[in-house]
Amino acid sequence: MTDTSPAKPRLVLATRNAHKVTELRAILGAAGLNADLTGADAYPDIPDVRETGVTFAENALLKAHTLARETGLPAVADDSGLCVDVLGGAPGIFSARWAGRHGDDKANLDLLLAQLADIDDAHRGAHFACAAALALPDGTERVVEGRLRGTLRHTPVGAGGFGYDPILQPDGETRTCAELAPEEKNAISHRGRAFRALAPAIRELLG
Ligand code: IMP
Repeated sequence: MTDTSPAKPRLVLATRNAHKVTELRAILGAAGLNADLTGADAYPDIPDVRETGVTFAENALLKAHTLARETGLPAVADDSGLCVDVLGGAPGIFSARWAGRHGDDKANLDLLLAQLADIDDAHRGAHFACAAALALPDGTERVVEGRLRGTLRHTPVGAGGFGYDPILQPDGETRTCAELAPEEKNAISHRGRAFRALAPAIRELLG
């Protein structure tokens, strides 16, 4: 198919999650990034990357470099999770599979609440963290981290969002992340902050 906007730099997003592609398009667009963004779904033959890193930044870079190498295009990726103070930063990079099965949001959340059952409000501090990475086919890389700090509720509240959203109440809020509208969450979220911080580097390196 003919590209109708040849002047726009092309950028691939290392996710097959359509919700994330839409969210990142909105965040990067609002940050003034005029790029042609494609999700990894457009490249079904590229295998999923094993997340062998031990930090969010390492895993985000792994995903971005793999996609940039395989497609020959600049690629961005993120890696994120929930870090609980009293658990020394866990679940952290294990957030998606805390209860054992990757992506079982309800089991992960139920297990975490059970582990924290005896912990009072004063010690229920936590943050969402997101590393956002950019990699170019020549190996150039940039990575930044964004955080959303808050307190963990004792029971889930709210129907929006995903993952641990129903139990994280951001500082200065009376609602959980699952009660915020998507635009409200994007404005303060770890992912929003990380990609807004990465946007100038994307603009600079993509010309
Ligand atoms: P990943 O970045 O897609 O690997 O996400 C890792 C896991 O962290 C998700 O499965 C969720 O459990 C958790 N997580 C990351 N970001 C959020 C968020 O914005 N809200 C709730 N949970 C999140």
